[in-house]
Amino acid sequence: MKNYVYRDLSSKKYTKNEFFKYVEKKVLKTVRNYDLIKKNEKIVVGLSGGKDSAVTLYLINKLFSSRISDISALAVDEGIKDYRDKTLLDAKKLCKDLNIPLKIFTYKKEIGVKIDKIAHLGNPCAWCGVFRRYLLNKTARLIKADKLATGHNLDDEAQSIIMNQFKGNVAFSAKLGPMTGALAHEKFVPRIKPLYFLTEKEVLIYSKLRGLNVNYVECPNSAGTFRDKVCEMLNSMENEYPGTKQGIVNGFLEILPKLKEMYKGQKIGSCKDCGEPAVKNKCRKCEMVDKLRLKKLL
Ligand code: SF4
Repeated sequence: MKNYVYRDLSSKKYTKNEFFKYVEKKVLKTVRNYDLIKKNEKIVVGLSGGKDSAVTLYLINKLFSSRISDISALAVDEGIKDYRDKTLLDAKKLCKDLNIPLKIFTYKKEIGVKIDKIAHLGNPCAWCGVFRRYLLNKTARLIKADKLATGHNLDDEAQSIIMNQFKGNVAFSAKLGPMTGALAHEKFVPRIKPLYFLTEKEVLIYSKLRGLNVNYVECPNSAGTFRDKVCEMLNSMENEYPGTKQGIVNGFLEILPKLKEMYKGQKIGSCKDCGEPAVKNKCRKCEMVDKLRLKKLL
């Protein structure tokens, strides 16, 4: 008797090997259809040690190593005790197993503060996200990467679309999609999302079946956030109406070219303090650093 590990939206069942092929075919199709990885490109993967970025690194290495010129990983240590220290151990082990070089940058050294030290200010994810985007982009550019691959999956994208919709941030949605930042500014390293059409559940099952060394811990700051609530809402809708998340993303992709057209006139200059890309005269990272200095936390 066949041992099935997964059932898709059309109720088709998959054995382990069939599931591997299903996942890998989806990633190959995403990369091909959206031209995410070109021949001889240098790819760096933003690796947290969690399942999504681990699967991204594993699959780019497995499916594209003969096509690209180089693959490496970048990790950011935000300074979140009992969380990032654990996932970074996994990141190191995975890179060692795959023989892929890994560089780790810390908020403490690059920004001057750990997230644990400023979490009491409220909404730590707001600080953390801005610092991470800044650091990943800057370091990816410094190592001359052509693309920065991230582990964003279909669930993440559906959440971002709904969050922007709820907050009326249409301009933010124009920056979503399988590849972002391609033409926005010379200092932006384009970001690619090879897992764009894979659900969180599919990535989770794949990581477990492949035996990837992943510690399935959640960041202690993620509970109760706006994203967390939208995630719960979408999971509940998906349970009742399977295909909801896919529908949100597919519908969004139909209007994305129009959104990009609408917001393409938005000028991106350089931050007067650090020189990184900025919509205003200062980038958000430097604005946040100023706030921390005012509070004498830096
Ligand atoms: S959940 Fe928030 S605080 Fe934790 S790593 Fe993610 S962005 Fe940072």
